[in-house]
Amino acid sequence: MRGQADRPVDQTGLRRLNLSRVLRTLRSDGPQSRALLARRTGLNKATTSSLVAELEQRRLVQLGAVVAGAVGRPSQLVEIRGRAVCGIGLEINVNYAAVAVLDLTDQVLFSKRVPLDVVALGQVAAIDLLADLADETIGAMRDEGNWVAGVTAAVPGLVDAGNGVVRHAPNLRWREASVADRLAARIDLARESISVDNDANLSALAEHAIGVAAGVSDLLYLTGEVGVGGGVIADGRLVRGATGFTGEVGHMPLNPCSAECGCGRTGCWETQVGLAALLRAVADPDDEVHDSARDLEQRLRVIAARAADGDPRTRTALAEIGSALGVGASILVNVLNPTALVLGGYFALLGEWLAEPARRELTERVMTSGSCRLVLSDLGFTAAVRGGAHAALDRVVADPSIAPTEVPHLGGIA
Ligand SMILES: [Zn+2]
Repeated sequence: MRGQADRPVDQTGLRRLNLSRVLRTLRSDGPQSRALLARRTGLNKATTSSLVAELEQRRLVQLGAVVAGAVGRPSQLVEIRGRAVCGIGLEINVNYAAVAVLDLTDQVLFSKRVPLDVVALGQVAAIDLLADLADETIGAMRDEGNWVAGVTAAVPGLVDAGNGVVRHAPNLRWREASVADRLAARIDLARESISVDNDANLSALAEHAIGVAAGVSDLLYLTGEVGVGGGVIADGRLVRGATGFTGEVGHMPLNPCSAECGCGRTGCWETQVGLAALLRAVADPDDEVHDSARDLEQRLRVIAARAADGDPRTRTALAEIGSALGVGASILVNVLNPTALVLGGYFALLGEWLAEPARRELTERVMTSGSCRLVLSDLGFTAAVRGGAHAALDRVVADPSIAPTEVPHLGGIA
């Protein structure tokens, strides 16, 4: 987006690349001496020391413990610095808005979820509410002396990530929503620091970077929300497809009951296994689990408690949904051949009852049964916001020279 890759690399550009190389190595390989860092990056020792000094000045790294070096001389370890630079992840979904802040060591500095009826609120008001949540969070982070590298918002739908526009989010009833521009107009952060992506994509990135499938290079993530989206990582990279809309798996025509989907079609998979289908199946409309003013996790805990008590309606519904989940997932596993299938959102929170019937179908239907393990996410409904925060931090990892050399004044540098 900055267009640097298209220009010949000058001295400044070269230094920027080398700063990034050192920071990436520390992020992936952990604390190490400058001598080891020089060997791993292929840079000479003097250059490495100078780069480390600049990264230290920009508060991205710090000097840690002193250890005995290879030839007996003590050397000080260089490590990523936490709690100085942070990235913010936002999410808007059918039932809630959420935010999470991660520092460069991937520690969660702040996390919050607000129950919300997003459809009733409407497109513009919902984005403005997201902006308020972001602005409040940015203010709190700056008050604590943090520099905010960027904000990435997760939305369930077809997202034109390059332009920060949500083309169509059926379950939110959004069309052509210029989310990044509207956020930029309302929060104290430059437009280039704000991005938008599909919630399943960001969740897959979170699982790949810090979740149960950390380091797994081929994985499929399924969001258990009202909509069911797929995030695909192949050979360590997110798969976006020709126009950026890979993973609209919730609209595979699999439901024999031909129920109407938020997209206007009938028979979509998510009308069978999405959150709305679950709530309909387990309880009558006046039941407390349908109360959208209550936090979603609390409502799911009520369902889990009923299942644990052996309530027949709940048990039957979960067994049927688990089975339908397995049938759809087996198609995707046969197509994509991932080594891990990660179930997120409500699929993970009710995994105790959904995973077994799903596994049975996978075992029965996947051609190379056993090559893909089914795992439950432990990030719950925070996968997308954590992935967003991680993606926001990638901006400064790709170009550490954007980090200020001094602690910004309150509300100062955008
Ligand atoms: Zn659909």
